[in-house]
Amino acid sequence: MRAFHYIAPMTTTNLIGLSFDGLRQALADAGTDAKQQSMRARQLWNWVYVHGAADFSTMSNLAKGFRADMAEHFNLARPEIVSEQISEDGTRKWLLRAGGQEFETVFIPDADRGTLCVSSQVGCTLNCRFCHTGTQALVRNLTPAEIVGQIMIARDRLADWPSTAENRRITNVVMMGMGEPLYNFDNVKQALLIAQDGDGLALSRRRITLSTAGVVPMIARAGAEIGCSLAISLHAVRDDIRDVIVPLNRKYKIAELLDACRSYPGLSNARRITFEYVMLKGVNDSLAEARELVALIKGIPAKINLIPFNPWPGAPYVCSDWEQIEKFAEIVNRAGYASPVRTPRGRDIMAACGQLKSESLKLRARDRVQATQTASSALSSAGEQAP
Ligand code: SAH
Repeated sequence: MRAFHYIAPMTTTNLIGLSFDGLRQALADAGTDAKQQSMRARQLWNWVYVHGAADFSTMSNLAKGFRADMAEHFNLARPEIVSEQISEDGTRKWLLRAGGQEFETVFIPDADRGTLCVSSQVGCTLNCRFCHTGTQALVRNLTPAEIVGQIMIARDRLADWPSTAENRRITNVVMMGMGEPLYNFDNVKQALLIAQDGDGLALSRRRITLSTAGVVPMIARAGAEIGCSLAISLHAVRDDIRDVIVPLNRKYKIAELLDACRSYPGLSNARRITFEYVMLKGVNDSLAEARELVALIKGIPAKINLIPFNPWPGAPYVCSDWEQIEKFAEIVNRAGYASPVRTPRGRDIMAACGQLKSESLKLRARDRVQATQTASSALSSAGEQAP
């Protein structure tokens, strides 16, 4: 006689990335007793976001039957790790895959902090002329699960659980990976609200920075609904130049962008907007432009982050000379703005600003970089894996 076995559904729902209310609703839909839903949701939330549990079976204070129910309906899957590369300066880059597409996350350790650079999209629609990601054809929005999942994978790989520990390795999150976060507002918002939940991943919203190329109508919403710190990829002081290097400027001009910055909630000397300015030789790096820059942002509590241009194969620009960057920085400093020059990190593994690009072409690109880059940024052999 043949026995008929009940076959569990092949697909279960991922709980990562749901809001707390969404999680409670998922439990309700799975038949959890109404009186227990809130308590169960709180317990799960704690296991997932404080302890980083990836498997219901490890949730030792929950009844066995409940854990089995959960495993039948749900999963806690992170994106798949395709490769992990470690730079000679300690920067780590993960190439991740979900839904058949790949995207990258970068961890940058410093003496006083650890910054995780998170992607919001696969690829990017903006086509900034100096950015490698903009040359990638395929674009889709990352889901809240994929965005939060990047933080969770980094915590997994850096042994950085529980979220309540002192001296955590990841202290800051910057939405400065692939993609334009304000073109994926709803998902980025949902993910960042989870990231800043004090009973969960517990990253302070001040230590979360969203960087935008200037999607002006969404800036006020980011301030009101996410409340994180803001960075603006300014890169030029005149519309004619910015129209070329950041084509989004044709839609939203510098003056409108700066008006939106002036209205950003909660600004003070302790809470400044960061203006990013990539140093492109002969394009935007004259000392007259340094003076125009400080005049332009007058009245806005601001930091100016000068970013040496990071090369990539086929890039139409080169980095400004170091002396020029120093003179530019001095003008900005003398006007009273902190203007740290961002030390390029992880260039050897193509993890520096503007170098992220996840597709199979990458290997060839890296080979070419290896051939052309200077000795200081030669490919490290230790810890490197081919994608
Ligand atoms: N789309 C958002 C998030 C990306 S942030 C934004 O534009 O802000 C990535 C930062 O690196 C941006 O300031 C970007 O302008 C900068 N960048 C891009 N390509 C670069 C390169 N090749 N060298 C240095 N910085 C670069």
